[in-house]
Amino acid sequence: MRFYSTSEAVDAVVIGTGAGGAPLMARLAAAGLSVVALEAGKHWTPSRDFATDERAQAKLFWNDERLSAGVDPLPFGNNNSGTGVGGSTLHYTAYVPRPQPDDLRLHTEFGVGADWPIAYGELEPYYDELEHFLGVSGPFAYPWGPPRRTTYPLAPLPLNGAAQLMKRACAALGIRTSPAANAALSARYFQTDIGWRAACTNRGFCQAGCSTGAKASMDVTFVPLALRAGAEVRAESFVTRLETDRAQRINGVVYVRNGREERQLCRQVFLCAGAIETPRLLLINDLANSSGQVGRNFMAHTGLQVWGQFEEDVRPYKGIPGALISEDTHRPADADFAGGYLLQSIGVMPVTYASQMSRGRGLWGARLREHMRGYNHTAGINILGECLPSAHNYVELSDELDARGLPKPRVYFTNGENERRINAHAEKLMREIWTTAGASDIWAYPRNAHIIGTCRMGTDAENSVVNSESRAFDVPNLYIVDNSIFPSALSCNPALTIMALSLRTADLFLQRARRSEI
Ligand SMILES: Cc1cc2nc3c(=O)[nH]c(=O)nc-3n(C[C@H](O)[C@H](O)[C@H](O)COP(=O)(O)OP(=O)(O)OC[C@H]3O[C@@H](n4cnc5c(N)ncnc54)[C@H](O)[C@@H]3O)c2cc1C
Ligand code: SF4
Repeated sequence: MRFYSTSEAVDAVVIGTGAGGAPLMARLAAAGLSVVALEAGKHWTPSRDFATDERAQAKLFWNDERLSAGVDPLPFGNNNSGTGVGGSTLHYTAYVPRPQPDDLRLHTEFGVGADWPIAYGELEPYYDELEHFLGVSGPFAYPWGPPRRTTYPLAPLPLNGAAQLMKRACAALGIRTSPAANAALSARYFQTDIGWRAACTNRGFCQAGCSTGAKASMDVTFVPLALRAGAEVRAESFVTRLETDRAQRINGVVYVRNGREERQLCRQVFLCAGAIETPRLLLINDLANSSGQVGRNFMAHTGLQVWGQFEEDVRPYKGIPGALISEDTHRPADADFAGGYLLQSIGVMPVTYASQMSRGRGLWGARLREHMRGYNHTAGINILGECLPSAHNYVELSDELDARGLPKPRVYFTNGENERRINAHAEKLMREIWTTAGASDIWAYPRNAHIIGTCRMGTDAENSVVNSESRAFDVPNLYIVDNSIFPSALSCNPALTIMALSLRTADLFLQRARRSEI
């Protein structure tokens, strides 16, 4: 790895190395820019550090305390965000569907929520590129969305127990299903400038980190690409301050490494710390907030799960967790809500399942142990549904300080009427699927997943934080690229779109740089 001096200005500092930070870091370094990434978490070696053990792997989650408020306060830790070189992709399940074009036009279609300032067509080439670079496994023909210009590069992964049961029941009910798109390799895969990556062994512990490198987390894909192109990644470097000159340009990024404060001088900053740490850093530094929108429009997908018990041996810890999908519910004909949702089969690890049983069904001690005897016969489906931006959902600084002396973030979240209606529609349908599949003891676990919004992208500096090129309206050399800039939640998993925005931002930035406009 190349090393840069802190006292000489580098072309770009990237804060955070997850789905937003890593792709653009590689793109900028490949274009010859001097790039330093500052990452709060550690740089792990998967084969050595990723045990097949949920408890041991809690180290991958962002475990600093966050205060949770609202009627439906969100649990953090393993529910929501990660840390380490690779960010939340270290523990994501690697479901990578594309959104559908109308997902980006929610306000036009329904008169609520927000439209994106960019069209699907502007992201499409990046989806094509990413699916091939990451090595996405998926069906030959995907039944939903516009015709695709490219097929998935690899065949689908085998269906796990829940997926097989869901497929059978959906077929009986006339609901179309398809093997899902997974950013995990169904066969050994060669990546230029990286080498061969091993195929998935179907051991199912994706949320504990993939020790084989089959899952396309950023640490085994874009990060090595960036390092090879000359970027430096400084792990265990927690950014606390963004310093500006008189023209409101950021010229130094202050961070704490090994207990010491250091300052990296820079010409451009790409802030990619995720939908809570990004607004937190901006609020602490009183930056990019002339609109008052930093921290606003916080969203979390409706992620209701429905579980059932089966005679069959399901073994929910085995196989890629997210194996089967249906988007027949993208815009249901009988909907009484805006937007829609998709259905996904799920796998689950035992400790996660036990904690959900405690939370969702109020089971403890002997009763919990009794129910956990049925773990191997348990199968689940969940939805990923639209969540509208609302004034009552936001991130603010609390007056409690963390161990570094920084204000802890407080996150307000309450499901609105639209989210409740989506959940009601989906619960009825998922119960029907599991009843048809022959389940007993069916129960629903309401939850919200993914942290989205808080620095939204738009065309108007009065009600958004970044423009359509991800550049802050108020700070000319600050770009924000992570799940905070989504204007609407999209009724699908977010990581592929975050990566697409990341590559697009880098390309647009490089074009402006070539025209000497930065
Ligand atoms: C259990 C789980 C499963 C998921 N499964 C899927 C899935 O199947 N498909 C999908 O599309 N999405 C999934 N997601 C969501 C997905 O992982 C995230 O939406 C995505 O990775 C977010 O990318 P990001 O770049 O916004 O942030 P992150 O990937 O979280 O990256 C932010 C990085 O910034 C660093 N950082 C934060 N603050 C600072 C600071 N002050 N200084 C330095 N560094 C800092 C963090 O350590 C982190 O590494 C899942 C999430 C969870 C929790
Ligand atoms: S199921 Fe496949 S992708 Fe997931 S952790 Fe195991 S080997 Fe990696």
